[in-house]
Amino acid sequence: MTTQTQFDVVIIGSGAGGGASAWALANKGVKVLVLEAGPHYDPEQDYRLHSPEWELQGFPDKLDKTRRYSFARLQTLDRKYDHLRSWNHISGRAVPGRVRRPGQYSHVQGVGGTTLHFTGEAHRLHPDSMNMKSRFGVGADWPVDYQTLEPYYQQVEEFVGVAGPANQTARVRVNPFPQPVHSLSYASQQLARAGQSIGMRWEPNSLAVLSQAKDTRPGCNYCGQCQRGCPRRDKGSVDVTFLPAAVKSGHCTIRARCQVNRLVADDKKHVTAVEFLNEQGVAETVTGKIVMVACGAIETPRLLLNSRSGTIPDGIGNESRQVGRHFMETLAWSSAGLHAENLGSHRGLPADGICWDFNAPDAIPGGVIGGMRLSTFTLENDFAGPVNYATRVVKGWGVEHKRQMKQQLGHVIAIGAIGESLPHKDSYISLDRRQRDALGRPLAQIHSFLDDMAVQRLAFMAQKSRATLKAMGVKSLIEETSTYDIFHSTHVFGTCRMGLDPTQSVVNDHCQHHHWKNLYIVDASVFPSTGGGEAPSLTIEALALRTAEHIHAQLTS
Ligand SMILES: Cc1cc2nc3c(=O)[nH]c(=O)nc-3n(C[C@H](O)[C@H](O)[C@H](O)COP(=O)(O)OP(=O)(O)OC[C@H]3O[C@@H](n4cnc5c(N)ncnc54)[C@H](O)[C@@H]3O)c2cc1C
Ligand code: SF4
Repeated sequence: MTTQTQFDVVIIGSGAGGGASAWALANKGVKVLVLEAGPHYDPEQDYRLHSPEWELQGFPDKLDKTRRYSFARLQTLDRKYDHLRSWNHISGRAVPGRVRRPGQYSHVQGVGGTTLHFTGEAHRLHPDSMNMKSRFGVGADWPVDYQTLEPYYQQVEEFVGVAGPANQTARVRVNPFPQPVHSLSYASQQLARAGQSIGMRWEPNSLAVLSQAKDTRPGCNYCGQCQRGCPRRDKGSVDVTFLPAAVKSGHCTIRARCQVNRLVADDKKHVTAVEFLNEQGVAETVTGKIVMVACGAIETPRLLLNSRSGTIPDGIGNESRQVGRHFMETLAWSSAGLHAENLGSHRGLPADGICWDFNAPDAIPGGVIGGMRLSTFTLENDFAGPVNYATRVVKGWGVEHKRQMKQQLGHVIAIGAIGESLPHKDSYISLDRRQRDALGRPLAQIHSFLDDMAVQRLAFMAQKSRATLKAMGVKSLIEETSTYDIFHSTHVFGTCRMGLDPTQSVVNDHCQHHHWKNLYIVDASVFPSTGGGEAPSLTIEALALRTAEHIHAQLTS
């Protein structure tokens, strides 16, 4: 086994957290190695939006991502919440039985991580949602506040190129967004107008998607296919923003297809080595003064829990037995219906419009704690072309089907909602005792439980979605998707919580492990709370820049 020793910092994972950290450190002259389990993606070659079969595949995954996690049995569904179940007017109920179905943890293994197929929503957290324990008696407080994060939010927005409105609801900004706001598509304008007619404020979303050219990246062409991978590089995924700049600095090396299997420690205070299988499948070890883990909130606890030894039987970093606990998932709802007018809804940016009215933790009436937001969802939900229309929208077969296809393309309108997810004792990540991956490592096992408060939040999200479509004149719904009966998470959080009390958290306010002083965690594992539906990448990246600043100071002191 070879051992490399020339790096100051070894970063594991190259997604939102790993990528932003790599740039922030390399830019300051720190020697960085990024180890990424997945391959490189080439936007022009890999994202085949121009090919005739573009709609048949989603993001073109090169690795089988499902073989890294399993599910513990999910909860039994209560009949009183049947109105919150997923269905489609052609295929019927998505889950026929009475047990919640394991869907997927939607993520990408690749240089750029899950940002490769994210939509690019770029949200700052609602300041009140960072004090859930002290203000509302649930979850945990963040050990940093919004004001502390503000300059880092700004830095990320400038660097990536975020376009947003001049006055975003409920967010204090020192400077305006660096890029002019995107216009709403015609379909989204109609949806916003309908929302306004029933007393809701809708506004253009803030997006890490260029509205005008920046450096070598062009502005968006509004093809709407961000989740299939953006071939133009205008979407601010990490592979076209932070990572190339990190490499250009001359201080960052990225090694793709390098799967880290274990962290090693030989005393009680320092992680001494990182063991991985290299591009050829050969075992290698690397050392760094600092090790940063950024594998995402399911793979990060998996790696730490798998880093066991005789002297560290519970896994590195798990002294307080907090690793894997407090798992928070995506609480999501969407309703779709047919509009009488051809809205051309298959065109535009996926989540161009947003309503923040219920985003504050106490904004939902009836004593429900935790907020939510609504957004335009037609393209997020992939009502994008003839294949989806033929299978999900238009019934039947033959000549009549063909006639209806012509008539209905562009008429679907969908609205989506994402809500706060709060920690629960039965939601956590553990190691699967029976199932292992191809390398013989236990899989991460997802345990998830939605309590009554979460279901009530979901019910409110459904009610507002349906009411908005009704106000728009939609007479019949055609599909609703819900995480009530299917676990499906695009945003995952909380499994290595940050906090000031080492018995209740894993890392401190600089994302530094309480015990292992050269171990840092820089992904959404550290989030003590999720916010009321905000997309997490901007916050992950802002935290990463702050952590990098702290590490640089440590290395140079
Ligand atoms: C369809 C979809 C749409 C989304 N839209 C948005 C959006 O609009 N806005 C937003 O903010 N967020 C969005 N998200 C979520 C966002 O992409 C993630 O929250 C974000 O990428 C998480 O960053 P991360 O650094 O924690 O992990 P990731 O970006 O998932 O990166 C983790 C990386 O670590 C690597 N890795 C894992 N284990 C190992 C190991 N053992 N060794 C080496 N490498 C390893 C993985 O291969 C991966 O590349 C979306 C997600 C999905 C799925
Ligand atoms: S809509 Fe814009 S950001 Fe999204 S894939 Fe198309 S060009 Fe890229």
